[in-house]
Amino acid sequence: MSNTYESVINTKPLMLAMDTAMTIVIATMAQTRSSCVLVLNGQRLVGIFTERDLVRAIARQQAIADLTLLDVMTIEVIRITEAEAQDIFAVSRLFSQHGIRHLPVVNDEQVVGVITPLSLRNLFKPEHLLRYIRVAEVMQRQVVMVSPYDCVQDVVKRMTAAQVSCVVVVEPHSQQPQGVVTEHDIVRLQSLGTDFVQTLAKTIMSAPVRSMRPNESLWQVHQYMLQSGIRRLLITDDRNRLLGIVTQTQMLRLVDPAEMYHVMQQMQNVIEEQTQELQRLNDNLQIANEELRQLAALDELTQIANRRRFNECLEHEWRRMAEHQQPLSLILGDIDDFKAYNDLYGHPAGDECLKSVADIFHFSTHSVSDVVARYGGEEFVMILPYTDQQAAERIAQKILATIEHLRMPHEGSSTGFLTVSLGVATCIPQMTVESVTLIQHADQQLYRSKGQGCNHYHASIMA
Ligand code: GH3
Ligand code: MG
Ligand code: MG
Repeated sequence: MSNTYESVINTKPLMLAMDTAMTIVIATMAQTRSSCVLVLNGQRLVGIFTERDLVRAIARQQAIADLTLLDVMTIEVIRITEAEAQDIFAVSRLFSQHGIRHLPVVNDEQVVGVITPLSLRNLFKPEHLLRYIRVAEVMQRQVVMVSPYDCVQDVVKRMTAAQVSCVVVVEPHSQQPQGVVTEHDIVRLQSLGTDFVQTLAKTIMSAPVRSMRPNESLWQVHQYMLQSGIRRLLITDDRNRLLGIVTQTQMLRLVDPAEMYHVMQQMQNVIEEQTQELQRLNDNLQIANEELRQLAALDELTQIANRRRFNECLEHEWRRMAEHQQPLSLILGDIDDFKAYNDLYGHPAGDECLKSVADIFHFSTHSVSDVVARYGGEEFVMILPYTDQQAAERIAQKILATIEHLRMPHEGSSTGFLTVSLGVATCIPQMTVESVTLIQHADQQLYRSKGQGCNHYHASIMA
């Protein structure tokens, strides 16, 4: 049963049998300060008699002293079941719809209690307000957005012009928030002597950003802020596009500050257990998510990155190297006469061979930021950031030498051993050029190597 419901229901209403004399009824109502009587036949609710009915009777100059409850009560009692009463909005609708001031709550005809508009007022306590107000109703929709590539100087200008203490760094195309820059960050950077013109928003923003959906309650926002110690929450739609922002200051303004301390205490106690349980679930969910992400990014057979992950990585490194104007190299490799290998040794042996070649590529990398991926069936690719042609060629030579050294038998090849052919391409990426051009370039070099037979590499710089 929810706390809300408990705080609005009077579980000890005045209840009297239907044959009770009105003199006794009136005396009991006065004594118990009850504004209504629920009329019972045995345990069953059969009627209601309120102060208003009494006033009406007096106005009609009825000789009520001679009557019993049965004579004066209202028979058609508007009532609500215990289950329905959990929805406070349903309760308040009944009050206004029927113009009543007492709403009996029943469970299988048995009276559980009464709700009055007065008791509904209990809801207007901060802790309940927080439960019923959706983020969408209070969030600030006017959020100052900057691009990750704006310089800090511009960020400061925007901040000052809009008189805000924080701006959101948003990816221009996807509209997805990437980070937040606050006044506090600016002050810190200033004290560090940071060059505001040379520094980009993306390098100083706080990331990752935390966000919630607009249909969450302020209770959840508050809980989240308390737990994480953060003072701002971004509100995003289901595609993670920015809709607004909720700040702690805003939250505080919504409720009486004096009550706030009490509310926090109460929240902490009540929800601590639930929170822990939720946290556990959340942790498990995150682990599961991470596993899923890994699964989606890895090639099942070779356990190196798959084509999808390769595309993401190449895009990322292309931008990064373009930004820093540093060389990016790509090595594309293709196993020679692999169809014949399968035909000779069988598909399972072919699979084992692919795993070995994947391992050789993997162990030939020279930095942790290098990425090896399975490009296609028997094709592999290596992304080499901060790597010029010379360094990339050394890696290509290492791959060829390692495979040669292993002397893996391949009767269907001209050398009698398994070999690969490689294409190496290097460039300093430009934002105006697409990363796929580097792949095409490496592919041309690979084609040249194949033309020479096998076990070769060709390298060139893409202009
Ligand atoms: P080339 O020297 O010109 O590269 O010739 P190739 O035979 O290596 O190339 P081709 O494209 O004709 O054949 C590639 C073969 O790779 C055919 C396909 O059955 C095999 N292959 C692709 N994926 C897998 C896999 O996952 N496992 C196995 N065992 N074989 C695969
Ligand atoms: Mg091929
Ligand atoms: Mg091949």
